[in-house]
Amino acid sequence: MKKLEHIGIAVKNLEESEALFAKLLGTKPYKREIVESEQVTTSFFKIGDIKIELLSAINEQGPIAKFIEKKGEGIHHLAFETESIIHELEQKKEELFEIINQDPKDGADNKLISFLHPRSTNGVLIELCQEKINP
Ligand code: ZN
Repeated sequence: MKKLEHIGIAVKNLEESEALFAKLLGTKPYKREIVESEQVTTSFFKIGDIKIELLSAINEQGPIAKFIEKKGEGIHHLAFETESIIHELEQKKEELFEIINQDPKDGADNKLISFLHPRSTNGVLIELCQEKINP
């Protein structure tokens, strides 16, 4: 793992939470992006070296809607940047972490992403990510 890349926070109302976090952090979001694979709209803030990713559900079947239904709003995942997501996933598998998606998928912010199940990580959903190399 290279570093903590961002913290994902599940929110009900993206407009309201963008305004709240803009006030809290003293900076505006730099990007809004829909991630079809996760059925979410994301909004990104940069604070120092770390990003905050607000996540709001596009529809009620998606993982964020289910998360909020079960646990309410709040921290949803921690995302760690990797040098090679494939290599990191192989290693995490050998170390007996439970991998949700072995094949990395397209995430927000030009990243490939995979998740480790919170069952194997003390209740914290862990995202592994790697910057996509643009051709
Ligand atoms: Zn994320």
